[in-house]
Amino acid sequence: MDNKVLIFGHQSPDTDSITSAIVMENLERKLGNENAKAVSLGHINKETKFVLDYLGIEEPEVIERIEDNQEVILVDHNEATQSVENIANAKILKVVDHHTMSFIAPYQLYYRAEPVGCTQTVLYKMYKEYGVEVDKKIGTLMLSAIASDTLVLKSPTTTAEDIKVVKELEAITGVDINTYGVDMLKAGTDISEYTPEQVINIDSKLFEQANKKFKIAQVNTADLDSIFKNQSYFEQAINEDIEKEKLDFYVFAATDIVNSNSKIISLGNDSPVVEKAFGISMDNHTAMLENVVSRKKQILPPILDMLK
Ligand code: MN
Ligand code: MN
Repeated sequence: MDNKVLIFGHQSPDTDSITSAIVMENLERKLGNENAKAVSLGHINKETKFVLDYLGIEEPEVIERIEDNQEVILVDHNEATQSVENIANAKILKVVDHHTMSFIAPYQLYYRAEPVGCTQTVLYKMYKEYGVEVDKKIGTLMLSAIASDTLVLKSPTTTAEDIKVVKELEAITGVDINTYGVDMLKAGTDISEYTPEQVINIDSKLFEQANKKFKIAQVNTADLDSIFKNQSYFEQAINEDIEKEKLDFYVFAATDIVNSNSKIISLGNDSPVVEKAFGISMDNHTAMLENVVSRKKQILPPILDMLK
């Protein structure tokens, strides 16, 4: 795939990572970059499958490594730990993101990150700036990702820009974010066919900060009990990952999309950091975090503060 420009989101791809790659590919092609190709770093989850099935779009090709000097465009991430395994070999042409920046490139590139709820909010603005049409299909991809990242605009990561873009996308697509978005989120909570190991990897992010290596995994659910009745199996899967990846601690958050709370499991030698970060004491490795739904805004920052 030497002559291609590969576009991809983070590992354990979520709806934003997959759809942003597809929407960015379309933008690049409309701007004359015929070699743009959306790929992904893992298979789609059930929520994203709901979206792609709804639109009749095929899952992007899954890649594991890139060739030396492969030209790439990163969407929905910029941290090397969350990117393709040998990202150091890439020539990064562009980054379009909405996360904390942990990025140094010894060459010029297009870097666009905005403090909004979803990469697609940034992409929508880019379409407008370049005068590229947002048709129903592209608009529905954008709307889906915003509904996913913001839990249908209920997460504290939601900004006024996201809300404005959603209103415009609803007008373009005729899709109502509240009905469609909730159906989409619910489709993503079906974990009946997954092993505990697969569940903790649906949306798991690795962080290396302050000399600590840790993961925060998140899964959406409409029924916390359905997850916690299998707590011991999840703990086993988490402990195996801690051992394999040599993690200092691991937080698994089951987020109740109906009541907007998260119940966490915290394991690993440094898990007292998590207790201190939230001012809680774990009961059987678990704790309820009321009104917490966002890893980026509500789970990661107090942990990073505690590690400083
Ligand atoms: Mn993402
Ligand atoms: Mn995102």
